[in-house]
Amino acid sequence: MRKTLRLGIMGGTFDPIHFGHLVTAEEALVQFNLDKVVFMPTGRPVRKTHRYVSSPEDRYLMTVIATAANPDFEVSRIEIDRPGATYTVDTMLQLREIHGPRAELFFISGADAVREILTWKDAARFAELCTFIAATRPGFDSALEPFEAVGDAAVAPRVEAMEVPALAISSSDIRARVAARRPIRYLLPEAVAAYIEKNGLYREPVA
Ligand code: NAP
Repeated sequence: MRKTLRLGIMGGTFDPIHFGHLVTAEEALVQFNLDKVVFMPTGRPVRKTHRYVSSPEDRYLMTVIATAANPDFEVSRIEIDRPGATYTVDTMLQLREIHGPRAELFFISGADAVREILTWKDAARFAELCTFIAATRPGFDSALEPFEAVGDAAVAPRVEAMEVPALAISSSDIRARVAARRPIRYLLPEAVAAYIEKNGLYREPVA
C-alpha cells in the first residue's frame, strides 16, 4: 500500500525550545522528505524526577511561539492534555488512530534520548510504529551502537542518525545562563527569550 503522509513527530521536553531544535526539525523535513513536522512537547516526563521541569503550558506556549512562522511546522497538545506520566508509545498509537495505516511516522529526537528507546514502555510495539531519527552533535557517531547489538531480534528499531551542528545549543545551558544572568540572545527565537523574561522562568539555578 502506498503511504500518503510522511509525518515527522518532534519529541522533546522543550524547556526551553531553541534554534538547535528548530534546525533539527527543518533538516529532518528536507532529508527525509516529510510532509510536515509536528512538535510534541512532553506532558509529564517520566524520567525527569531529578530536576524541576517548567509547566506543560509554558513549554507548549514557547513551542508555539517558536514555530508560528513556519507553515511546515505544527504543535500538538496530545501529550500536554493526556493525564498521567507521558509515554511516547501511547502518543504514537493515538497518531496511528488519527492518521490511519497510510501515514508513515518518523519520531525525531536527540540521539541521547533515542539511544534509550529499548528501555521505554512497550519498546517492541513502539519500534513497529515508526522510524526513529536521532539528531546528533558533530563528531558524535555512536548513536546507532545499541541497535547494532539488537540485530534482527524481535525489537529491532529502524534508526537513522542525522548530524545537526546547531545542536551545540542546549536547553540546560540556556537555563543555566538565565539563572546566572548571562545572555541567551541568538540561541533561541527572540520572542521565546521575551516569554522567559516576562514569566520569570529559569531564574533559580536548578541544573
Ligand atoms: P532528554 O533526555 O532531556 O534529552 C536528551 C538529549 O537530546 C539532550 O541533549 C536534548 O537537548 C536532546 N533533545 C531532546 N529532544 C530533542 C529534539 N527533539 N531534537 C533534538 N535534540 C533533542 O530528552 P527528553 O526531552 O526528555 O525526551 C525526548 C523525547 O523522548 C520526548 O518526546 C520524550 O517524551 C521521549 N521519552 C519517552 C520515554 C518513554 O516513553 N518511556 C522516556 C524518555 C523520553 P535539549 O535539552 O537541548 O533538548
